[in-house]
Amino acid sequence: MVSDMDEPQATLLCADDLARHCGYAASAPREQRFPPLEGGRACDVAVVGGGLAGLSAAIELADRGFAVTLLEARDVGSGASGRNGGQALPGLACEPHVIEAQLGLEAARIVWDAGIEALDLIHRRCERFAIDCEWRSGYLLTAVSTRMARRLRATADDFQRFGHASRFIEADEIGNWIASPRFVAALYDARAGHLHPLKYTFGLARAAASLGVTIHERTPVVRLVGGPRSRLETPGGWLSAGRVLLAGNAYLQGIAPQLERRIMPVATYMAAMEPLPEALAASLVPSGAAVCDNNFVLDYFRVSADRRLLFGGGESAGTTMPRGVAAMLRRRITQVFPQLEGTRIESVWGGYVDVTRNRAPDFGRLAARGDGANVYYLQGFSGHGLALTGLAGRIVAEAMAGDARRFDTFARLQHRPFPGGARLRGAALQLGLAWYRLRDALAS
Ligand SMILES: Cc1cc2nc3c(=O)[nH]c(=O)nc-3n(C[C@H](O)[C@H](O)[C@H](O)COP(=O)(O)OP(=O)(O)OC[C@H]3O[C@@H](n4cnc5c(N)ncnc54)[C@H](O)[C@@H]3O)c2cc1C
Repeated sequence: MVSDMDEPQATLLCADDLARHCGYAASAPREQRFPPLEGGRACDVAVVGGGLAGLSAAIELADRGFAVTLLEARDVGSGASGRNGGQALPGLACEPHVIEAQLGLEAARIVWDAGIEALDLIHRRCERFAIDCEWRSGYLLTAVSTRMARRLRATADDFQRFGHASRFIEADEIGNWIASPRFVAALYDARAGHLHPLKYTFGLARAAASLGVTIHERTPVVRLVGGPRSRLETPGGWLSAGRVLLAGNAYLQGIAPQLERRIMPVATYMAAMEPLPEALAASLVPSGAAVCDNNFVLDYFRVSADRRLLFGGGESAGTTMPRGVAAMLRRRITQVFPQLEGTRIESVWGGYVDVTRNRAPDFGRLAARGDGANVYYLQGFSGHGLALTGLAGRIVAEAMAGDARRFDTFARLQHRPFPGGARLRGAALQLGLAWYRLRDALAS
């Protein structure tokens, strides 16, 4: 049995632990730090949250001439954006029919097209701001059983209906695409891909600062007071803003409880293995694509530029890292790649995704009119936000600049709150996950 790193028992889901545990931190040294807010300030737009959604919005707002101040409770990228699987995917976490059923075909196309534009936006930003984040094209959505292969077919049909090219890989071909006994079919998407998320997030922070955005780290917003100009209170000062964007994911910390009821913070975990020999690294997924299966409680993985297998999987409710996560991930890794039995796991970490009940994104304003109408929010990326956050930032900036057509299309999506308070939601999630794990197991 290989001995992996000593498993950390700390609260890994708290974003403070990023530098200590996250496998990305060592290869993404910080170039810039931003001071906490001290005293009182005023700006056109206050952005709460220094993840990909907040940074993207800040860039787009600065491009449109707004004076923007971004407040981040911890460090830029310390939430989900700096610690995710790095898979830049088309579309949304939910199936297109969920959108179509609510909004109709025409609006569903607008939403789908936005998801594709989100992929292109990553390339435009990397070019414009010289961000080297190790982009690699290619994405394989895989199925572990014939039943899940039928579901994959339906996804392929949806892709085709919305004009998105993909290639279906049958069982007899799958061995050419992935050196694993686990999968029976796959869908290859050449336009999607993967990147180093912490490098990308730091790149966006540098870009925002270069456009004149004021960034304050270590500055949690502890109170939001609405009005014609909102007031955001922090431990060291306050900010007055004509408009506010809340982009805090599941880490928002109670400043807008009406939003938090509509999302469930779900923890997901990742492991980084030690670097693999060149030939072994190249053999696992010969195309170099990122891989994700289409189970509900899914495995997602890719080989990084420094030849490590980065593997994510497992989901739970709760605020601390459960015991045995490294062993759980090791089991899942060797189920997919038995040839990695002797390879060590070097680090394990976790983070929250903000899941909505229907897995569609939840964008909008706190109120239709009066106090709250100038407070916008972006949440509910449901584990699918690496690319979509970029586009979300663009469409919220469009809306604040006077063209709310795309933002309002997303905002028409209806979201129901999760039943019960925080504790009940956690228990309900555990039950739900157990049910989905059983369903996945029966389908395997
Ligand atoms: C382990 C993991 C793997 C994932 N893998 C993928 C993947 O492969 N592909 C994909 O598409 N998506 C993936 N995701 C999801 C993706 O990372 C998120 O959807 C995306 O990063 C969300 O960005 P965000 O800016 O909304 O949130 P975050 O990056 O979490 O940023 C929110 C920020 O707001 C700050 N904040 C919150 N409240 C306050 C406050 N009151 N005051 C000040 N600041 C505040 C937080 O500190 C945080 O930094 C993954 C997520 C995790 C956790």
